[in-house]
Amino acid sequence: MNTYHRFDVVFDHGKGVFIWDKDGKMFLDFGSGVAVNALGHCHPELVRTIKKQAEKLLHCSNLYWTEPQIELAKMLSKNSLNGKVFFVNSGTEAIETAIKLARKFGKTKHGSKYRILSAMNSFHGRTMGALSATGQMKYQEKFKPLVDGFEYFELNDVKSLETKFSKEVCGVILEPVQGESGIFLANEEFLKTLRKLCDEYDALLIFDEVQCGMGRTGKLFAYQHFNVEPDVLAVAKGLGGGFPIGAVIANKKADVFEPGDHGSTFGGNPLACSAGLTVMKQLLKDGFLQRVSRMGNYLGELLLKLQKEFPDRIEQIRGIGLMWGIQLVKDIAANEFAKECLNEGLLVVPAGSNTVRLLPPLIVQKKHIVQAVGILRNVLAKVGKKA
Ligand code: PLP
Repeated sequence: MNTYHRFDVVFDHGKGVFIWDKDGKMFLDFGSGVAVNALGHCHPELVRTIKKQAEKLLHCSNLYWTEPQIELAKMLSKNSLNGKVFFVNSGTEAIETAIKLARKFGKTKHGSKYRILSAMNSFHGRTMGALSATGQMKYQEKFKPLVDGFEYFELNDVKSLETKFSKEVCGVILEPVQGESGIFLANEEFLKTLRKLCDEYDALLIFDEVQCGMGRTGKLFAYQHFNVEPDVLAVAKGLGGGFPIGAVIANKKADVFEPGDHGSTFGGNPLACSAGLTVMKQLLKDGFLQRVSRMGNYLGELLLKLQKEFPDRIEQIRGIGLMWGIQLVKDIAANEFAKECLNEGLLVVPAGSNTVRLLPPLIVQKKHIVQAVGILRNVLAKVGKKA
């Protein structure tokens, strides 16, 4: 269907941080399929796991148990909320699951609580529940009426949050680092107030780490930077390193589902879970996440230098770990900029607020960062001349 603004390129294969089109042209991939290829393209361990598991057992209904699912659930839980895990196939399904947890929590514990709060400019997915949580009218308008009971506050604005909170609120959904709207970080004070209000009003705090989780910010989960723990954590994208899988982790308070409340045919199948396990094991290797932080800081430094070189073309640089946004000045369109980068051999991802996102694979090296920033410099010089 006519759903995507596609760039004019047909990709064929990839290796590490590089991807080739069908004519053999090589590109540096600083998009990672929008934060999915955490280990780069065709990571040998991941390929080996998938091949091995495909020869053993592809799918098995959730009427039964499989070891990869049990192991991955344990690993996710142990490294986050020490809670229960539900597996899905995508980010939006993870959010739907979280919404249902909050609704059931509100209903069973309080009788009538059903309101859910989320941030303006957030992005939580395209299915009707997740879309209702997405605080961007441009995505919602054509699909109204949406799911009832959603309201929006301004990110990092305590007053706006307090105004929207009431005893009717059963849950709050937040990206600790907003991705799709252009890389905006929640601040610690705001998150602490949010945690306090959720406790006071007995609402579930849900963090959407579909984009910013799985090592992207230099910690396994972004909330670990802020000393604020959610009740529910939604992850996807990087978890499978390219194989579709998502998960929701719920702490004891949020563990309200009973058999029959929720389900998924494909969610948690052994192939997806064995991919997830391989990714988790790589991310948890000694020094892996510290390296992500180091590479992230290096990328951030070079981007800030680039802003000094091109103050009339770059409005702002924002980011953490290997998740950076270059906000361009008004008269340079993010899409056009991304197209120029593509022509020069670099993949970046356009985002809201006239921003291009840099989301390189977590295995990126200094030399790749230098190369990418070199291309960005060339493109900035070029778009400047045209403007
Ligand atoms: N939540 C966040 C923060 C996202 O960035 C996205 C996708 O970009 C989603 C949810 C939806 O994920 P999916 O496209 O896998 O359904």
